[in-house]
Amino acid sequence: MNVAIISEQSMKLQSDIDAGIKSLEEHPCSICRQGRGEGPRDHFHGSDWGKCYKMILFDCLVGKKEVMTPQKRSFLRDGHLHEESIVSALRAGGRKITGTVGNESSFNFTANTPKGPVTFTTIVHTDGIIDGKAGLECKSVKDYAWKNKFLKGKIPETYYGQCQAYMLKHRMLTWFLAVKHRHTSEILPPFEIQFDKEYVQKKAMELAAVTVALKTGQILTRPKSKLNKRDSECLYCNYKDQCWG
Ligand code: SF4
Ligand SMILES: [Zn+2]
Repeated sequence: MNVAIISEQSMKLQSDIDAGIKSLEEHPCSICRQGRGEGPRDHFHGSDWGKCYKMILFDCLVGKKEVMTPQKRSFLRDGHLHEESIVSALRAGGRKITGTVGNESSFNFTANTPKGPVTFTTIVHTDGIIDGKAGLECKSVKDYAWKNKFLKGKIPETYYGQCQAYMLKHRMLTWFLAVKHRHTSEILPPFEIQFDKEYVQKKAMELAAVTVALKTGQILTRPKSKLNKRDSECLYCNYKDQCWG
């Protein structure tokens, strides 16, 4: 019978792995990586388009100070590998996918609010464009989201909003969301998402309100849709205690 040995050498390797993970900083975008995130964040990320606007305001105020454990960092990096594997499979299956996973670009958007136009920047990371006609976003998810969301045909709003931001940037009307199970590696038929003008207008007004609040130091009230702190987005929000008191 083979006996698994954890030797002194194993422990040295382990400490190199830990040091390596620590050195591989995970930043949401190149501006945050360059340190402009030290103060309040002055730009949005594609995923912000689908989030609670009060959470985005808190995120922007916290800037780069958000604590990220080595495990969380490693988990995010593994996610990118899963995403790349979906793109490779599609390419091997004959699809022309242009771009590289996580390719960064940005766009400015001007929202015409009742108090005048407000312009803000969004940084996006596109996973690919399929046959030059539609976009592709890949996600690898845990069992809970797989069973309770995707197998039931439900798309979390964060992903929906992110795909809308990508369509705005690339001037496309269709985006596919390909989802892979983190543990079983099963991949669902990609969900087709259409450009949703009404949703985009609503989110743009919210992001404009966050932009103004960041400049004026105003604190926004909770969205009307958040009825109590057991709302699924509030439950996992870093600012739950601050927000609900
Ligand atoms: S606790 Fe809920 S309402 Fe408050 S910021 Fe977080 S998600 Fe938004
Ligand atoms: Zn950033």
